[in-house]
Amino acid sequence: MPLLPRRYERLKAVLNRRMADLTVLLEHVEKPHNLSAILRSCDAVGVLEAHVVSLKGRERTFNSTAQGSQKWVPLHGHASGAEAIQALKTQGFKLYGTHLSAAAVDYRSCDFTGPTAFVLGAEKWGLSEATTELVDQAIVIPMQGMVQSLNVSVATATLLFEALRQRQAAGLLPNQGQGVPAERYDDLLFEWAYPDVARWCRDQGKAYPALDAEGTIKGDLPRTLKLRC
Ligand code: SAM
Repeated sequence: MPLLPRRYERLKAVLNRRMADLTVLLEHVEKPHNLSAILRSCDAVGVLEAHVVSLKGRERTFNSTAQGSQKWVPLHGHASGAEAIQALKTQGFKLYGTHLSAAAVDYRSCDFTGPTAFVLGAEKWGLSEATTELVDQAIVIPMQGMVQSLNVSVATATLLFEALRQRQAAGLLPNQGQGVPAERYDDLLFEWAYPDVARWCRDQGKAYPALDAEGTIKGDLPRTLKLRC
């Protein structure tokens, strides 16, 4: 099935609105329907990639709730909360830990227009103490009901859409690819447009071929691979 110009334009339009400086770090969030719903919200808001610390030996799975969004929002695995937080801090992110404590501030009083990572905790027991201590700011979504907490995917969506709202109000939403590091843009577009070819290139240790203005691959590929384009 060839890549239709309309599909290529759509992929570009979505990538052009992605934000590398907005992300989530999920600590031991394991249920497939929660992971799926979270990635779907990330895709909807324009998060470029997400992060997860998984329990040892647990395979990450998604279900139909994701609607395929796991293809468009890669989930990077980390060995521990501390390692993940260090990696994100090194990249300049401010880490907002969702913690249902008296020390946490109302999320609406925070500025999410700079590099922002929301740190969400496990369905049952929330954020670990170790991770809570490492975040820059504890935040909470104030609750008015009988139940103490939201479902983790609902909390994630609430926070991401607040970040989107603030960035929109500040005129900071990218629409021309400025939210994606320039050196990664072409590779990401290629991976979105031709995932099979991209995998083959990586396996062969080859650079991705260039695309023309309509998204057609320039240059020759092995015949078996061409059939998949
Ligand atoms: N008993 C757990 C606790 O005390 O944290 C509840 C965990 S809650 C079901 C799962 C995750 O959803 C939390 O770790 C947090 O990341 C997020 N969450 C749920 N309700 C929230 C709220 N009102 N404000 C901020 N985050 C919330």
